Amino acid sequence: MDEACCDMNGAGDFADGTPLDADELYGKYLRKSSKFPHVWCAGCGIGIVLGSLIRAIDELRLPKDDVLVVSGIGCSSRLPGYVDFNTLHTTHGRALAFGTGAKMGRPSLNVIAVMGDGDALAIGGNHFIHSCRRNINITAVVVNNFNYGMTGGQNSPTTPEGAVLSTAPHGNIENAFDTCDLALGSGATFVARSTVYHVTETKEYIIRAVRNQGFSVVEVIAPCYTGYGRRNDAESAADMVAELGRKAVPFKKSAFITRQKPSGGLEGGKFHIGVFRDERRPEFCESYAKLVRELRAKRETPIPS
Ligand code: SF4
Repeated sequence: MDEACCDMNGAGDFADGTPLDADELYGKYLRKSSKFPHVWCAGCGIGIVLGSLIRAIDELRLPKDDVLVVSGIGCSSRLPGYVDFNTLHTTHGRALAFGTGAKMGRPSLNVIAVMGDGDALAIGGNHFIHSCRRNINITAVVVNNFNYGMTGGQNSPTTPEGAVLSTAPHGNIENAFDTCDLALGSGATFVARSTVYHVTETKEYIIRAVRNQGFSVVEVIAPCYTGYGRRNDAESAADMVAELGRKAVPFKKSAFITRQKPSGGLEGGKFHIGVFRDERRPEFCESYAKLVRELRAKRETPIPS
Protein backbone atom coordinates (compact mmCIF):
# COMPACT_ATOMS: atom_id res chain seq x y z
CA MET A 1 0.00 0.00 0.00
CA ASP A 2 1.04 3.60 -0.44
CA GLU A 3 3.50 4.73 2.23
CA ALA A 4 1.56 7.95 2.67
CA CYS A 5 -1.53 6.05 3.69
CA CYS A 6 -0.01 3.70 6.23
CA ASP A 7 -0.68 6.06 9.12
CA MET A 8 -4.40 5.82 8.35
CA ASN A 9 -4.49 2.08 8.14
CA GLY A 10 -6.64 1.05 11.05
CA ALA A 11 -10.19 1.08 12.26
CA GLY A 12 -9.16 3.72 14.80
CA ASP A 13 -9.67 6.45 12.18
CA PHE A 14 -13.39 6.12 12.78
CA ALA A 15 -13.36 6.56 16.51
CA ASP A 16 -15.89 9.41 16.46
CA GLY A 17 -18.16 7.60 13.96
CA THR A 18 -18.11 10.51 11.48
CA PRO A 19 -18.00 9.38 7.83
CA LEU A 20 -15.03 10.72 5.89
CA ASP A 21 -15.73 13.51 3.42
CA ALA A 22 -14.85 13.00 -0.24
CA ASP A 23 -11.31 14.41 0.00
CA GLU A 24 -10.53 12.34 3.09
CA LEU A 25 -12.03 9.28 1.47
CA TYR A 26 -9.98 9.65 -1.70
CA GLY A 27 -6.88 10.50 0.32
CA LYS A 28 -7.23 7.39 2.36
CA TYR A 29 -8.32 4.80 -0.20
CA LEU A 30 -6.91 5.82 -3.59
CA ARG A 31 -3.35 5.22 -4.70
CA LYS A 32 -2.21 8.72 -5.33
CA SER A 33 1.25 7.66 -6.36
CA SER A 34 0.28 5.86 -9.53
CA LYS A 35 -2.10 5.38 -12.40
CA PHE A 36 -3.94 8.73 -12.52
CA PRO A 37 -5.41 10.03 -14.72
CA HIS A 38 -7.43 6.82 -14.95
CA VAL A 39 -7.99 4.80 -18.12
CA TRP A 40 -11.78 4.94 -18.25
CA CYS A 41 -13.69 6.86 -20.94
CA ALA A 42 -15.60 10.00 -20.03
CA GLY A 43 -19.01 8.95 -18.75
CA CYS A 44 -17.97 5.38 -17.95
CA GLY A 45 -19.84 3.94 -14.97
CA ILE A 46 -16.92 2.07 -13.43
CA GLY A 47 -15.64 5.07 -11.47
CA ILE A 48 -19.04 5.28 -9.74
CA VAL A 49 -18.71 1.64 -8.72
CA LEU A 50 -15.24 2.44 -7.35
CA GLY A 51 -16.76 5.28 -5.29
CA SER A 52 -19.48 3.02 -3.87
CA LEU A 53 -16.91 0.32 -3.09
CA ILE A 54 -14.58 2.54 -1.04
CA ARG A 55 -17.55 4.12 0.77
CA ALA A 56 -18.80 0.64 1.64
CA ILE A 57 -15.40 -0.42 2.99
CA ASP A 58 -15.14 2.82 4.92
CA GLU A 59 -18.54 2.24 6.55
CA LEU A 60 -17.60 -1.36 7.31
CA ARG A 61 -14.60 -0.01 9.28
CA LEU A 62 -12.34 -2.57 7.65
CA PRO A 63 -8.60 -2.01 8.10
CA LYS A 64 -7.06 -1.75 4.65
CA ASP A 65 -4.70 -4.65 5.31
CA ASP A 66 -7.71 -6.93 5.81
CA VAL A 67 -9.12 -6.28 2.33
CA LEU A 68 -8.10 -7.93 -0.93
CA VAL A 69 -9.55 -6.56 -4.17
CA VAL A 70 -8.94 -8.99 -7.00
CA SER A 71 -9.81 -8.74 -10.68
CA GLY A 72 -9.33 -10.45 -14.03
CA ILE A 73 -9.11 -8.57 -17.34
CA GLY A 74 -11.30 -5.85 -18.78
CA CYS A 75 -12.20 -2.22 -18.14
CA SER A 76 -13.65 -2.88 -14.68
CA SER A 77 -10.71 -5.12 -13.87
CA ARG A 78 -8.49 -2.02 -13.90
CA LEU A 79 -10.19 -0.92 -10.68
CA PRO A 80 -7.76 -2.60 -8.24
CA GLY A 81 -4.94 -0.48 -9.67
CA TYR A 82 -6.48 2.63 -8.13
CA VAL A 83 -7.40 1.44 -4.64
CA ASP A 84 -4.99 1.21 -1.74
CA PHE A 85 -5.76 -2.27 -0.42
CA ASN A 86 -4.09 -5.58 -1.05
CA THR A 87 -4.81 -5.97 -4.77
CA LEU A 88 -4.39 -8.57 -7.49
CA HIS A 89 -4.92 -7.90 -11.19
CA THR A 90 -4.89 -11.39 -12.66
CA THR A 91 -5.72 -13.24 -15.89
CA HIS A 92 -8.97 -13.14 -17.86
CA GLY A 93 -11.86 -14.75 -16.00
CA ARG A 94 -9.73 -15.90 -13.10
CA ALA A 95 -10.45 -13.34 -10.39
CA LEU A 96 -12.45 -15.88 -8.39
CA ALA A 97 -9.82 -18.59 -8.82
CA PHE A 98 -7.09 -16.31 -7.43
CA GLY A 99 -9.52 -14.98 -4.80
CA THR A 100 -10.36 -18.51 -3.70
CA GLY A 101 -6.68 -19.33 -3.25
CA ALA A 102 -6.12 -16.18 -1.20
CA LYS A 103 -9.21 -16.83 0.93
CA MET A 104 -8.23 -20.44 1.61
CA GLY A 105 -4.70 -19.35 2.54
CA ARG A 106 -5.87 -16.53 4.79
CA PRO A 107 -9.56 -16.89 5.69
CA SER A 108 -9.58 -13.64 7.68
CA LEU A 109 -9.17 -11.62 4.46
CA ASN A 110 -12.23 -9.82 3.09
CA VAL A 111 -11.95 -10.80 -0.57
CA ILE A 112 -13.79 -8.66 -3.11
CA ALA A 113 -13.65 -9.70 -6.76
CA VAL A 114 -14.47 -6.96 -9.26
CA MET A 115 -15.41 -8.35 -12.66
CA GLY A 116 -17.05 -7.32 -15.89
CA ASP A 117 -19.88 -9.30 -17.45
CA GLY A 118 -17.67 -11.09 -20.00
CA ASP A 119 -14.93 -11.72 -17.46
CA ALA A 120 -17.34 -13.10 -14.84
CA LEU A 121 -19.84 -14.99 -16.94
CA ALA A 122 -18.04 -16.15 -20.11
CA ILE A 123 -14.32 -16.71 -19.59
CA GLY A 124 -14.84 -16.99 -15.83
CA GLY A 125 -18.29 -18.56 -16.01
CA ASN A 126 -17.23 -21.86 -14.45
CA HIS A 127 -15.44 -20.14 -11.58
CA PHE A 128 -18.55 -18.03 -11.03
CA ILE A 129 -21.09 -20.85 -10.79
CA HIS A 130 -18.84 -23.06 -8.68
CA SER A 131 -18.03 -20.22 -6.27
CA CYS A 132 -21.80 -19.78 -5.86
CA ARG A 133 -22.22 -23.52 -5.32
CA ARG A 134 -19.39 -23.74 -2.76
CA ASN A 135 -20.57 -20.66 -0.90
CA ILE A 136 -17.02 -19.46 -0.30
CA ASN A 137 -16.95 -16.17 1.59
CA ILE A 138 -16.08 -13.84 -1.29
CA THR A 139 -17.98 -10.83 -2.60
CA ALA A 140 -18.28 -10.68 -6.39
CA VAL A 141 -19.07 -7.24 -7.77
CA VAL A 142 -20.13 -7.80 -11.38
CA VAL A 143 -20.07 -4.57 -13.36
CA ASN A 144 -22.47 -5.30 -16.20
CA ASN A 145 -22.21 -3.02 -19.23
CA PHE A 146 -23.51 -5.63 -21.69
CA ASN A 147 -20.36 -5.86 -23.80
CA TYR A 148 -16.58 -6.31 -23.88
CA GLY A 149 -15.73 -2.61 -23.74
CA MET A 150 -11.94 -2.80 -23.52
CA THR A 151 -11.48 -4.87 -26.66
CA GLY A 152 -13.86 -2.96 -28.93
CA GLY A 153 -17.49 -3.62 -28.03
CA GLN A 154 -17.98 -7.33 -28.74
CA ASN A 155 -21.16 -9.03 -27.54
CA SER A 156 -20.93 -10.67 -24.12
CA PRO A 157 -23.10 -13.21 -22.29
CA THR A 158 -25.35 -10.40 -20.98
CA THR A 159 -25.82 -8.53 -24.28
CA PRO A 160 -29.57 -8.21 -24.88
CA GLU A 161 -31.00 -9.94 -27.91
CA GLY A 162 -31.15 -7.55 -30.87
CA ALA A 163 -28.48 -5.15 -29.57
CA VAL A 164 -25.85 -4.04 -32.08
CA LEU A 165 -22.22 -4.74 -31.22
CA SER A 166 -18.98 -4.84 -33.20
CA THR A 167 -19.36 -8.63 -33.50
CA ALA A 168 -23.13 -8.44 -33.99
CA PRO A 169 -23.50 -5.62 -36.54
CA HIS A 170 -26.97 -6.83 -37.55
CA GLY A 171 -28.17 -7.40 -33.99
CA ASN A 172 -27.26 -9.99 -31.37
CA ILE A 173 -29.08 -13.29 -31.99
CA GLU A 174 -28.03 -14.91 -28.70
CA ASN A 175 -30.12 -15.25 -25.57
CA ALA A 176 -28.62 -13.31 -22.64
CA PHE A 177 -27.63 -14.57 -19.21
CA ASP A 178 -29.26 -12.83 -16.29
CA THR A 179 -26.41 -12.44 -13.80
CA CYS A 180 -28.61 -12.57 -10.70
CA ASP A 181 -30.72 -15.49 -11.86
CA LEU A 182 -27.52 -17.40 -12.63
CA ALA A 183 -26.20 -16.64 -9.13
CA LEU A 184 -29.52 -17.62 -7.52
CA GLY A 185 -29.68 -20.86 -9.46
CA SER A 186 -26.07 -21.70 -8.63
CA GLY A 187 -26.48 -21.24 -4.87
CA ALA A 188 -25.01 -17.85 -3.93
CA THR A 189 -26.31 -16.85 -0.50
CA PHE A 190 -26.48 -13.08 -1.07
CA VAL A 191 -27.63 -11.79 -4.46
CA ALA A 192 -28.49 -8.21 -5.30
CA ARG A 193 -28.66 -5.87 -8.28
CA SER A 194 -28.12 -2.15 -8.43
CA THR A 195 -27.08 0.38 -11.06
CA VAL A 196 -24.64 3.29 -11.13
CA TYR A 197 -27.70 5.58 -10.96
CA HIS A 198 -28.41 4.07 -7.52
CA VAL A 199 -25.14 4.86 -5.74
CA THR A 200 -26.51 4.57 -2.21
CA GLU A 201 -28.09 1.20 -2.91
CA THR A 202 -24.86 -0.01 -4.52
CA LYS A 203 -22.91 0.92 -1.41
CA GLU A 204 -25.52 -0.68 0.88
CA TYR A 205 -25.57 -3.92 -1.12
CA ILE A 206 -21.77 -4.15 -1.07
CA ILE A 207 -21.82 -3.65 2.72
CA ARG A 208 -24.38 -6.44 3.13
CA ALA A 209 -22.49 -8.64 0.68
CA VAL A 210 -19.20 -8.29 2.56
CA ARG A 211 -20.97 -8.99 5.87
CA ASN A 212 -22.52 -12.16 4.45
CA GLN A 213 -20.58 -15.22 5.56
CA GLY A 214 -20.76 -16.85 2.14
CA PHE A 215 -20.59 -16.14 -1.56
CA SER A 216 -22.22 -12.84 -2.46
CA VAL A 217 -23.00 -11.36 -5.85
CA VAL A 218 -23.73 -7.68 -6.38
CA GLU A 219 -24.49 -6.93 -10.02
CA VAL A 220 -24.10 -3.25 -10.86
CA ILE A 221 -25.43 -2.16 -14.24
CA ALA A 222 -23.18 0.52 -15.69
CA PRO A 223 -23.15 2.47 -18.95
CA CYS A 224 -20.51 1.91 -21.61
CA TYR A 225 -21.27 4.55 -24.20
CA THR A 226 -18.09 3.81 -26.15
CA GLY A 227 -18.66 0.11 -26.71
CA TYR A 228 -22.42 -0.22 -26.40
CA GLY A 229 -24.40 2.99 -26.17
CA ARG A 230 -23.29 4.75 -29.35
CA ARG A 231 -24.18 1.66 -31.39
CA ASN A 232 -27.59 1.38 -29.79
CA ASP A 233 -29.10 4.84 -30.14
CA ALA A 234 -28.08 6.25 -26.75
CA GLU A 235 -27.69 10.02 -26.95
CA SER A 236 -24.89 10.22 -24.40
CA ALA A 237 -23.38 8.47 -21.41
CA ALA A 238 -25.39 10.77 -19.13
CA ASP A 239 -28.57 9.74 -20.94
CA MET A 240 -27.68 6.08 -20.37
CA VAL A 241 -27.34 6.72 -16.63
CA ALA A 242 -30.66 8.57 -16.52
CA GLU A 243 -32.32 5.69 -18.35
CA LEU A 244 -31.14 3.28 -15.65
CA GLY A 245 -33.03 5.43 -13.17
CA ARG A 246 -36.19 5.24 -15.30
CA LYS A 247 -36.05 1.50 -15.99
CA ALA A 248 -35.09 0.11 -12.61
CA VAL A 249 -38.01 -1.23 -10.58
CA PRO A 250 -37.55 -1.94 -6.86
CA PHE A 251 -37.89 -5.65 -6.22
CA LYS A 252 -40.67 -6.86 -3.94
CA LYS A 253 -40.74 -10.34 -2.50
CA SER A 254 -44.15 -10.91 -4.14
CA ALA A 255 -42.31 -11.17 -7.47
CA PHE A 256 -41.15 -14.59 -6.30
CA ILE A 257 -44.77 -15.70 -6.24
CA THR A 258 -45.74 -14.36 -9.64
CA ARG A 259 -42.52 -15.01 -11.54
CA GLN A 260 -40.19 -17.98 -11.58
CA LYS A 261 -37.20 -15.72 -12.21
CA PRO A 262 -37.33 -12.75 -9.86
CA SER A 263 -34.60 -10.54 -11.22
CA GLY A 264 -34.81 -10.67 -14.99
CA GLY A 265 -36.23 -8.57 -17.78
CA LEU A 266 -39.59 -6.93 -17.28
CA GLU A 267 -41.79 -5.37 -19.91
CA GLY A 268 -40.50 -2.28 -21.71
CA GLY A 269 -36.86 -3.09 -20.95
CA LYS A 270 -37.45 -2.57 -17.23
CA PHE A 271 -35.63 -4.69 -14.67
CA HIS A 272 -35.63 -5.30 -10.94
CA ILE A 273 -33.10 -3.88 -8.55
CA GLY A 274 -32.87 -4.93 -4.93
CA VAL A 275 -31.83 -7.86 -2.77
CA PHE A 276 -33.09 -11.12 -4.25
CA ARG A 277 -31.60 -13.43 -1.63
CA ASP A 278 -29.96 -13.08 1.78
CA GLU A 279 -29.70 -16.40 3.56
CA ARG A 280 -27.30 -18.53 5.60
CA ARG A 281 -25.66 -21.78 4.50
CA PRO A 282 -22.39 -23.48 5.60
CA GLU A 283 -19.43 -21.50 4.29
CA PHE A 284 -16.70 -23.34 2.36
CA CYS A 285 -13.60 -22.26 4.35
CA GLU A 286 -15.34 -23.03 7.65
CA SER A 287 -16.47 -26.45 6.42
CA TYR A 288 -12.94 -27.16 5.21
CA ALA A 289 -11.38 -26.12 8.55
CA LYS A 290 -13.93 -28.24 10.43
CA LEU A 291 -13.10 -31.26 8.30
CA VAL A 292 -9.37 -30.79 8.92
CA ARG A 293 -9.99 -30.54 12.69
CA GLU A 294 -12.09 -33.70 12.67
CA LEU A 295 -9.53 -35.67 10.66
CA ARG A 296 -6.70 -34.52 12.95
CA ALA A 297 -8.70 -35.51 16.03
CA LYS A 298 -9.35 -38.93 14.52
CA ARG A 299 -5.67 -39.41 13.75
CA GLU A 300 -4.74 -38.49 17.31
CA THR A 301 -7.31 -40.83 18.87
CA PRO A 302 -5.51 -44.00 20.00
CA ILE A 303 -6.76 -47.15 18.29
CA PRO A 304 -8.35 -49.41 20.94
CA SER A 305 -6.27 -52.54 21.55
FE1 SF4 B 1 -15.93 2.26 -19.66
FE2 SF4 B 1 -16.80 1.23 -21.97
FE3 SF4 B 1 -14.82 3.01 -21.99
FE4 SF4 B 1 -14.43 0.54 -21.02
S1 SF4 B 1 -14.90 1.09 -23.16
S2 SF4 B 1 -13.73 2.45 -20.07
S3 SF4 B 1 -16.42 0.09 -20.05
S4 SF4 B 1 -16.95 3.38 -21.33
